[in-house]
Amino acid sequence: MLAAQRLAGRGWKVQLFEAQGTVGRKFLVAGHGGFNLSNSEDAAHFAGRYGAESTRFGALLEHFSAADLRAWAADLGIETFVGTSGRIFPVAAHKPADLLRAWLGRLRELGVEINTRHRWLGFAGATGLRLRDESTGAGREFIIEPTATVLALGGASWAKTGSDGAWVPLLEEIGVPVVPFAPANCGAEVGWSAFFQEKVGRAPLKNIALRVNDGPAVRGELMLTDYGVEGTPVYALTPEVRAARAAGGPAVLHLNLKPDLPPATLLQKLLQPRGKASFPEFLKKTLHLGPPVPTLLREVAPEAAALHPEALAALLTAVPLPVAGLRPLDEAISTAGGIAFAAVDEHLMLRQRPGTFVAGEMLDWEAPTGGYLLQGCFSTGAWVARGVALRLMKNEDDALPYS
Ligand SMILES: Cc1cc2nc3c(=O)[nH]c(=O)nc-3n(C[C@H](O)[C@H](O)[C@H](O)COP(=O)(O)OP(=O)(O)OC[C@H]3O[C@@H](n4cnc5c(N)ncnc54)[C@H](O)[C@@H]3O)c2cc1C
Repeated sequence: MLAAQRLAGRGWKVQLFEAQGTVGRKFLVAGHGGFNLSNSEDAAHFAGRYGAESTRFGALLEHFSAADLRAWAADLGIETFVGTSGRIFPVAAHKPADLLRAWLGRLRELGVEINTRHRWLGFAGATGLRLRDESTGAGREFIIEPTATVLALGGASWAKTGSDGAWVPLLEEIGVPVVPFAPANCGAEVGWSAFFQEKVGRAPLKNIALRVNDGPAVRGELMLTDYGVEGTPVYALTPEVRAARAAGGPAVLHLNLKPDLPPATLLQKLLQPRGKASFPEFLKKTLHLGPPVPTLLREVAPEAAALHPEALAALLTAVPLPVAGLRPLDEAISTAGGIAFAAVDEHLMLRQRPGTFVAGEMLDWEAPTGGYLLQGCFSTGAWVARGVALRLMKNEDDALPYS
């Protein structure tokens, strides 16, 4: 949609085809949980969030940064603010639907033809696209011959929003390598006992640190659920969990319940005489660790209450939570995998099919939550608009370089 806006703004005729009855359904779903558009982090750290693709995203973010995203939203009448966590949100008065409505209004003003219930079915010949108008019961198939194409068909989670990954065979059949999808930014399953599931259900643990095996720790809030754990630190560690499991080893989340307390202070507190206090009362009084912590400790170490202070300190700073699996792909906030970067040139144009560009989550990258996902989609969208414009200008004037 950003590519459509930018290209229409330069005077080209743009047609947009969306399989669903409305566009931007996942955008609205993202808005439901806080609508975190981007992040105020400095450029170097920001690019680092894209892992193996950080260098590539460094350039993409330079072309369309978080500041550009804020300016774009402001231009649509949507002011944004930087929250205490550094995340960028629209101000409270603006609902996600307001931004989407203003955006669609702008696209229409620019002359973008928006065709909903139109499914892309694959390529036709060297430049054509096969489409089906599904707005009528029978459905009507037709072919268009655009001068350039941008595919932005999303990843493969939350299929009900339209991002079902059904495009994979259509790309593979023309020889485009697609890395299999895997859940990113999703919860992890832990084999809790029936007693734990019943007693704890859903409970937050604030100000914790979490790591996978001996990896680096991530801070945040953890949510215990009846099937395992959710929350920002778990999502951020999905790549490490996947890697540990892919390597055939166990993936154990180690939970530090007191990451701000120096080890010596923690031990000193635990060395205080317990007197007649029960284990839960002692934890509450000395460390402000209330429910569900005693139940959690007993779940992973039935003898927790009887542990020597040194051993208890070790348990409190590394509660072991063996990961039995990741939550299903369709539940994930985003997906890893997609079109391999080897399949596209520096303009994100398919090497197999000159004139066809790809943007957004359908490319093989991943990033944590915190605004990095939408920003990545916007930045790739702006970048392909640039690539399309350069290509079309070159078509119009052969003297122009395509770079
Ligand atoms: C619960 C949830 C919360 C999220 N929260 C945030 C957040 O706060 N911040 C953030 O940065 N990110 C968030 N995200 C992630 C973000 O929403 C996605 O990364 C982003 O929407 C991906 O954009 P996209 O344009 O690549 O694909 P999508 O938004 O998935 O759009 C792809 C579109 O292509 C259409 N399509 C697919 N196949 C065809 C076809 N054959 N023909 C025609 N149309 C087709 C689909 O119907 C869909 O509308 C969240 C995601 C979820 C699920």
